[in-house]
Amino acid sequence: MNYSGLKTYSIENGTGIRVSLFVSGCRHHCKGCFNEETWDFNHGEPFTEEVENQIIEAMEPDYMAGITLLGGDPAEPENQAALLPLLRRIKTELPKKNVWMYTGYLLSDFLPGNRAYCDATEEFLRCCDVVVDGPFIMEQKDLSIKFRGSRNQRIIDMEKTIETGSIVLLME
Ligand code: SF4
Repeated sequence: MNYSGLKTYSIENGTGIRVSLFVSGCRHHCKGCFNEETWDFNHGEPFTEEVENQIIEAMEPDYMAGITLLGGDPAEPENQAALLPLLRRIKTELPKKNVWMYTGYLLSDFLPGNRAYCDATEEFLRCCDVVVDGPFIMEQKDLSIKFRGSRNQRIIDMEKTIETGSIVLLME
């Protein structure tokens, strides 16, 4: 997997102060996408163990709330698998930090047999505390809503969603 950008101090992609990792590769090609260059899976630089170490170190301070994965689409099947080593480290070395993940897929696309499902999916989703799902839809663009580009996108509380078996939003 390649990545297109890394912010070690950001506040716009989730609650609190966070690391934001922009991975490369996205097949959704939404009209009006804010980050078109990241559609190419080969854009940017290889995501190495050194980058992983840099992320873990940046997340360590108490004032850091967690990490946000975005792109591109971190949930493209090949990216899910490539992100698992980092996610496992976060869950074991920094268990108090949360993980937000932005995807152009809908949560239902991750069900077995559906288009975003792969061998890594169940563990990948278990590592995500919050999933912001759905493509960017230009006609539903709304600058007044928090942490999203368009009104169709949902901020999903994954723990409660998995526990109850139906979608629970973290915030409207
Ligand atoms: S899912 Fe995100 S990165 Fe992909 S095309 Fe849509 S807005 Fe752009």
